[in-house]
Amino acid sequence: MKRQEFKFIIVVLVAVFIFYLLIARLRSPRLFSVESPNRIVMNTIANIIAVAPDEKTAQSGIDAAFKEIYRLEKLMNRYDPNSQLSQVNRLAAKEPVKIDKDLFDILQKSVYYSKITDNAFDITVGPLVDLWRKCAEANSMPTEKQLAEVKNRIGCDKLILDVNDFSIRFATEGISLDLGAIAKGFAADKAVDEMKKHGAIGGLVNLGGQIGCFGLTGKNSKWIIGVQNPAKQENNQAIAKLALSDMAVSTSGNYERFYKIGGHRFSHIFNPATEKSVDLLVSVTIITPNGTQADALSTAVSVLGAQKGLGLIEKIDNAEAILIRADDKNTLIKSSGVGKFILK
Ligand code: ADP
Ligand code: MG
Repeated sequence: MKRQEFKFIIVVLVAVFIFYLLIARLRSPRLFSVESPNRIVMNTIANIIAVAPDEKTAQSGIDAAFKEIYRLEKLMNRYDPNSQLSQVNRLAAKEPVKIDKDLFDILQKSVYYSKITDNAFDITVGPLVDLWRKCAEANSMPTEKQLAEVKNRIGCDKLILDVNDFSIRFATEGISLDLGAIAKGFAADKAVDEMKKHGAIGGLVNLGGQIGCFGLTGKNSKWIIGVQNPAKQENNQAIAKLALSDMAVSTSGNYERFYKIGGHRFSHIFNPATEKSVDLLVSVTIITPNGTQADALSTAVSVLGAQKGLGLIEKIDNAEAILIRADDKNTLIKSSGVGKFILK
C-alpha cells in the first residue's frame, strides 16, 4: 500500500471513531445527580442522592423519599407518644388494635426474623431496653430481680397478629415493642421504592449508615460504600469499600450507640436470652438486596456472634456479611460470597 493511501485510511478511521463517539454521547442522555442536605430523622442523620434525566425529577424523588421516611417514623417511633406503635404498646394487652398496613407488615416480618434467628432478633426487647436505659441514668447495673421481671415480658410468642383485619393483640400485660433494629432498613426500602416511582433511575438512601441503593450513580458507576473502621472512627476511615448496585447494607456496631455504667460501655443491642448487652463483635455489616432483611440480620448476627452468625448468613440466599470481633479489630471475617462486592 502506498504511503498516501495508508494515511487516507487512518484519517477515515479516526473520523469514523469521532463520529461514533458523538452519536454515543447524543444517544446516552445526560444524567442529573441531586444530593439532599443532611436531615435528622429516625434519631439519626439521613441523606439521599437521586439520579434522573432531569434535575426536577431527581429532586421530586428525594422529596417523596423523605416524605415516606417521615411518615414511617410517625408510625413506628416508640418514643413518640402519638405514634401508632405507642398506641399499640398502650392498648394491645387490653384489646386488638387495628394498625396501618405497613406497620402490620413490619411486625409480621419482625416475627419471621425472630423465628429464623432463633430469637436473637426480637422486637419485644422494649422493656429490656428501658431497664438498661434507666440503669445507665442511675449509673447502676440491673439487678437479677429486675432482669427476672423483664424476662416474662419478652418473646414474639406473646404477639397475636390477625391478617384479616390488620390488628395486633398482646397475650400478656407489660409488652413493649421496639422497632429500632428494623425500622431504618424498612424505611430505606420504602424510600428507594418512592424514588423509583417518581422517575429516578438511580439513587442512594443513607439513614445513619443503613444504606439502600439502586441503579447507577450520575457517572454511570456503581455506588461506593465504606465500611467504617471501628478502631479509627474519629477520622471516619473505611476498613473496606464496597461497590454496589440494587443492594442494601446495614451495619450494627457498638461504637456509636451505647450505655455507660460505672465507666464501662454497654452496646445498645441485647441478647434476649441472657438479657445482657452484646460485646463479641464490634461491627457487623450485612449486604442483601433487601434493607429490612439487612437491618434485622445485622442486629441478629451481633447477638449470635461470629460463628453462629456467619453460619446463619451462609444459609440465606443473597446475604453476605463482614464481621469484626472486639478482640481483633484489624481482621475482617467474611462470608463466602462477599468478595465480589469488595473493592480491591
Ligand atoms: P442501629 O440502630 O445502630 O442501626 P440496630 O439495627 O442493631 O442498630 O438496632 C439496635 C436497636 O434495636 C436498639 O437500640 C434497641 O432499640 C433494639 N434492640 C436491641 N437489641 C435487640 C434485639 N436483640 N432484637 C431486636 N431489637 C433489638
Ligand atoms: Mg438492625
